[in-house]
This record gives sequence, C-alpha cells and structure tokens, in this order.
Amino acid sequence: MEQTRALGRTNLRVKRIGFGANAVGGHNLFPNLNDETGKDLVRTALDGGVNFIDTAFIYGLGRSEELIGEVVQERGARDRLVIASKGAHKEVNGQIELDNSREFLRGEVEKSLKRLKTDVIDLYYVHFPDGKTPMSEVAGTLKELKDEGKIKAIGASNLDFQQLQEFNADGYLEVFQSEYSLIQRDAEKELLPYCEKNGISFIPYFPLASGLLTGKFTKDAAFDDIRKDNPQFQGETFLQNLEKVDKLKAVAEEKGTQTAHIALAWLLSRPAVDAIIPGAKRPDQLKNNLQTLDVQLTEDEAQYISDIFK
Ligand code: NAP
Repeated sequence: MEQTRALGRTNLRVKRIGFGANAVGGHNLFPNLNDETGKDLVRTALDGGVNFIDTAFIYGLGRSEELIGEVVQERGARDRLVIASKGAHKEVNGQIELDNSREFLRGEVEKSLKRLKTDVIDLYYVHFPDGKTPMSEVAGTLKELKDEGKIKAIGASNLDFQQLQEFNADGYLEVFQSEYSLIQRDAEKELLPYCEKNGISFIPYFPLASGLLTGKFTKDAAFDDIRKDNPQFQGETFLQNLEKVDKLKAVAEEKGTQTAHIALAWLLSRPAVDAIIPGAKRPDQLKNNLQTLDVQLTEDEAQYISDIFK
C-alpha cells in the first residue's frame, strides 16, 4: 500500500496511518487514564514512524496537547511531524460551551501553540460548529491565522453538508474530519463525495468504531466510558454489529491478518480518505494498528467487506 499522501492541496505529507490522541491526557473522556502511558503512546507512535498526530483542546482540556508537546520536545521531533489540533470548546463555570467567534478561536490557537511548545500548528480544525457564527466567517478566521503563519492548513470537523459547503464557499477548506467507519456510513451520502470532488482530505474519526471493529468484544461486554451512551454498543444494534464483525473476522482469517487491520485498510481504500487516525489506550494497540500498512485489499474484497455492513 502507498505509505504517504499529501493533505488536500497542501504540501503537508503524512504517513497514511496517524495517531488519534484523545486517550493521551483525555481524562474527561475516559476513566483511569495515566499521563505516563499517554506519553508512552506518543513515544511509541514516533518510534513506529507515525508523523501525523491528532489532538484537540477538549481532550483533557489542554492536557493532551501538553503531553504531546512534552514528548515532541524530549525527542526533538517537531520538524518531522504534522500536528493537528482543534478548538471551539470553552469552559464557562465548569460547563462546556461552543464558540467559533474570531476572537475566541484566535485566542485558542495561541494557547494551543504554547501547550504544544511550537510556533506553528500544521493543521487546525474548528472542532464543532457553534450554531451561530456563519461558517464563511469561521473559514475567514482560519485563513487569517494561516496567512499570519500561526497555522499551515485549514480544517473543519463535525459540520453537516450545508455547513461544509458554506465553510468552503471561498475554497479555503483543506481537511475535513467526520465520523466514518464500516459501522457508521452516513458520510458516504454527501460529505465524502463533496470532499473528493473538491480536493479536500477526509479524515475519518472513530475508524475502529471505538474498538468494535477490532473484533474483541462479546455480547456480555460492559462499558464505563463514552461508549456507554453510544447506540452502536446497545441492545439489538450491538448484537447485529457483533454478527457483522464476525463476518469481517472470517475475511481477516482468510487473508492471514487481523479484523482491525481489515477495517482500517478498507477505510484507506475509500476515495478522499488520505489518512486515518486510529486511537489507542496502550502502546501495543498502537503498534498493532500500524501493521495495517501491510494489508492490500482488492476491489472485490473491499466491495464484499462494504456489503457486509450495508
Ligand atoms: P477508534 O480509533 O475508533 O478506537 C480506538 C479505541 O479502540 C482505542 O482507544 C482502544 O480502546 C481500542 N483499540 C484500538 N486499537 C486496538 C487494537 N489494535 N486492539 C484492540 N483494541 C484497540 O476511536 P477514537 O480513538 O475515539 O477515535 C480516533 C481519533 O479520532 C481520536 O483519538 C481523536 O483524535 C479523533 N476523534 C475526533 C472527533 C471529532 O469530533 N473530530 C471525535 C472522536 C475522535 P479500548 O482499549 O478501551 O477498547
């Protein structure tokens, strides 16, 4: 499989398997995380040749960025990395609100730069729409930050189709991030085709459907983190998902590989998906996911896998 791709129309070249770092310091998302394990995850990513790391303010309210910044500095690795971060969340009296205003986003980028110990963020996304700031204005704010050299590329995440088009009215958008996996296919209707047509990289989040597509769960599995509120992990839907994953397991066995690798390789076979950012709680999971680069799917295999989950 081709190992690197450029992001959108930028000259940022990334290894096709990056690292999604929401479990690095993301204490507000997952219980019992340990900062040292978080730093080891980043070290493992760097040792494994990963050059694309995805973080956000909301992952630990800045903690993920801080831990990444520490390891990158310790390793002197800044120049060979493409670091992506996101902003829009604001803590007000202990509650989280969304803000896409120019003033707020500009302030957030300055804070992210400090936490990441860098003078430029390679890719900065507006994390969620705030429901009031016009999307064209948000794009304008990020363009201004790009022109000033604070960020190198413009990203947006969690926009609906209408918002995506509005954001890209002046053609500024370079990378779009949205949920997409074999289990969650909504992006195929409008978002993915739009990105493909307009030369925008599509980076899927929850590429392993939060671990469901690794094939490790049984019907008795219980969850105490963000998965407990996810309908994919509940009742009849969860049981149906397990049946489909069993079929995926059979494909993996036939190809002499693992279920997670097939699920990730399938994503990499989709148009506009230039790179993926699977997450991990432990270094061995991260190393394991990197083996996906050895998996090659034929068009027929990709279609068969696609149909299992239709
Ligand atoms: P994911 O990649 O679908 O699943 C990752 C989880 O699956 C891991 O934390 C681990 O959890 C399990 N896992 C991973 N590799 C495994 C392996 N080889 N064997 C067994 N289990 C394995 O979900 P995600 O990490 O939440 O999403 C990926 C990235 O997307 C995030 O890290 C974040 O950077 C980004 N993201 C962005 C948004 C957004 O709004 N833009 C939203 C969500 C995520 P357990 O060990 O606990 O099972």
